Amino acid sequence: GNNINVFNTSIWNGSMQNAVDWLVSRVQQHRKTTVAFANANNLNISVNNAALREHYSYADRVFADGSGIKLAGKILNKPVLDNVNGTDMFPLLCKALAKQGAKVYFLGAQKNVIDNMVVQLKQDYPGLKIVGHHHGYIGEGELDNLRVINQINRSNAEILLVAMGTPMQEHWLSKFAHKIQVPVRMSVGGLFDFVAK
Ligand code: UDP
Repeated sequence: GNNINVFNTSIWNGSMQNAVDWLVSRVQQHRKTTVAFANANNLNISVNNAALREHYSYADRVFADGSGIKLAGKILNKPVLDNVNGTDMFPLLCKALAKQGAKVYFLGAQKNVIDNMVVQLKQDYPGLKIVGHHHGYIGEGELDNLRVINQINRSNAEILLVAMGTPMQEHWLSKFAHKIQVPVRMSVGGLFDFVAK
């Protein structure tokens, strides 16, 4: 089949191009979609974290991120087709979203990192509609979180990227899933730190 089972998480086995095309079509159709990236570290965390496993199981696609998953595929005799990681996907996704005129919201990383990233992205992808961004240090306060979610919802974003590290970002997306109105939600780990460099 199209999936590989590693530590009870079903990992989607397909190409980067297919992943990007599929995501962009989900954005276009406003289909409620949750995706995550599973690398060896994330799956190790999931072994002792039922909430993270539940998030992966709830997700529409969990992408095969990195060499640890490739090795697992080899051991399971199910070759992993592609290394579908956030760093390689990001420029392809930004280009496709810009072309489509899709509205994107970025949540996560330290304030200076996310601020710098947005400035840089506006230069690199002039067509990209960044409708909002917020740092990832919101804290536990219910009101603080609801304030940020309100801001996200009011932006009318069509895709939300959350970069607060695993498992915090997945817990956050699960906890507030019913309050977030953005159709497509992606958790992307430390991606913004890489992009902002
Ligand atoms: N982060 C955040 N809020 C927090 C803790 C971390 O936004 O409360 C951000 C941090 O600034 C970094 C990312 O989450 O950008 C975590 O990166 P890391 O490489 O640790 O995550 P991984 O890729 O391993 O999931």
